[in-house]
Amino acid sequence: MTLFLTLYFFLLGTILGSFYNVVGLRLPNGGLMHENRSYCPNCKKTLAWYELIPILSYILQKGRCRGCRESISPIYPAMEAITGVIFALCFYQFGLGPQLILALLLMSMFHIIMVSDLRYMVIPDHLLLFFFGLFIVYRILYPLDPWWSSLIGGLGGLTVTAVIILVSRGGMGGGDMKLFGLLGFVLGWKLLLVTFFLSTLIGAVVSGGLLAAGIIQRKKPIPFGPFIVVGASFAFFSDRIIIDWYLQTFF
Ligand SMILES: [Zn+2]
Repeated sequence: MTLFLTLYFFLLGTILGSFYNVVGLRLPNGGLMHENRSYCPNCKKTLAWYELIPILSYILQKGRCRGCRESISPIYPAMEAITGVIFALCFYQFGLGPQLILALLLMSMFHIIMVSDLRYMVIPDHLLLFFFGLFIVYRILYPLDPWWSSLIGGLGGLTVTAVIILVSRGGMGGGDMKLFGLLGFVLGWKLLLVTFFLSTLIGAVVSGGLLAAGIIQRKKPIPFGPFIVVGASFAFFSDRIIIDWYLQTFF
């Protein structure tokens, strides 16, 4: 039964992941509701059902559109596969229960943020508002212990990022600030601190590496959202281990 459910959550993740790719690509353009059918962004050909199978279609078409032969970015099937694996891991770690719902909501939001921020350097407000509504309901039903950790986390996330934006002048943007505020509300102030620590660390290491390898230029801004997403995921899944280590080391 466990194996069957793990497989089920993997497939659910790839199918929803395929949908989240579309949401992440279309939401910043405001076109989510107007265009129901998926199409090739290059030749505008409407895609048939067999061109929309997560991961498999990409492999069978050798990474190209069947209409115009334009290559499709491997980021999209990779994100489908990653979301599939992460959904399976969520079930594996939390079993069936409220924590699983929280985990799947967070990972769904993270997938869409990843796509939008990598493609357009934007974390759409509509997306954050939509998930904020769901997380408020979730935290009313299942409050943190103590419950005000949500309030301190939310306000802390907003103010600390606002200070960083003022000081660094462009290291982070308004979308990052709102995302940190939202994460502080959902995860509480302790996990928010860990997320801050991990995302800035990962951001520094990765952008340093990309600079050194000549893949990006010093003056060109890079999206910070993906680092927040990865940092928050680590913080969320490792939970107590990293928190205890971090709080003992730095406070
Ligand atoms: Zn095409």
